[in-house]
Amino acid sequence: MPKVSQGDGAGADRYPTAFTPADFRANVADVRARIAAAARRVGRDPEAVRLLPVSKTVPTDRVRVAIGAGMRRLGENKVQEAMRKHRETADLDVEWSVIGHLQSNKARDVASFAAEFQALDRLKVAEALDRRLQAAGRSLDVYVQVNTSAEESKFGMPPEELPGFLRALPAYGSLRVRGLMTLALLTPDEVRVRACFALLRDLRDRAREETPELIGDGELSMGMSGDYEIAVEEGATCVRVGQAIFGARAVPDSHYWPEG
Ligand SMILES: *Cc1c(COP(=O)(O)O)cnc(C)c1O
Repeated sequence: MPKVSQGDGAGADRYPTAFTPADFRANVADVRARIAAAARRVGRDPEAVRLLPVSKTVPTDRVRVAIGAGMRRLGENKVQEAMRKHRETADLDVEWSVIGHLQSNKARDVASFAAEFQALDRLKVAEALDRRLQAAGRSLDVYVQVNTSAEESKFGMPPEELPGFLRALPAYGSLRVRGLMTLALLTPDEVRVRACFALLRDLRDRAREETPELIGDGELSMGMSGDYEIAVEEGATCVRVGQAIFGARAVPDSHYWPEG
């Protein structure tokens, strides 16, 4: 296949599209090296950071190449797309993490195939997931999504609602709380991005102090292609990276985070 960039300009230069196993291995190696460097800058163990490749909008033929290049768990924002790819890769050794906003009427779908759900932000969704999971005799790793940017367009609960939410979750026995998830402000202003990540870490630290039994391992899922190095410096234990591994997306981010 010829190497044509599919992005819409600036992003395509920054994030060339990966087609071959060698492309994927090179991109993953580069991201891992940057994670390791960021971790070392702040005295953290690079091994403590999980890289979750995000394959949204990437056609299944290229996803299959990525899996062949060694990716064993992939993130998708939309449940429908995740389920379709799950089906289309059922012959391969791969798990799926749903990282985007969920309507409670899609809980059954997530409960049927997902290995992880990173965007839990309402009890209605917790209740719907738990009901489906109990019926299926399964449990599910979840991250509670917090809105650390105070932007209307971002999903996730306001920070002040987190303690009450965590206290309510043990009622849903099939959900295993792993930690917290956030999206930072989409801005080139590094100071403001960093403040979002630091806030999530503070919330985690406070929860660990006050209710350690409710926060699981206290994982912090934060950081994307544009800001994962800052996130690692601020304590991320999972970074969700799409474009830096698969290539630039033509679909604008507002498709995933509707403008206020
Ligand atoms: C798309 C997405 C990412 C990855 O964004 P990239 O810019 O492709 O790295 C991370 N988290 C969520 C929730 C996403 O939807």
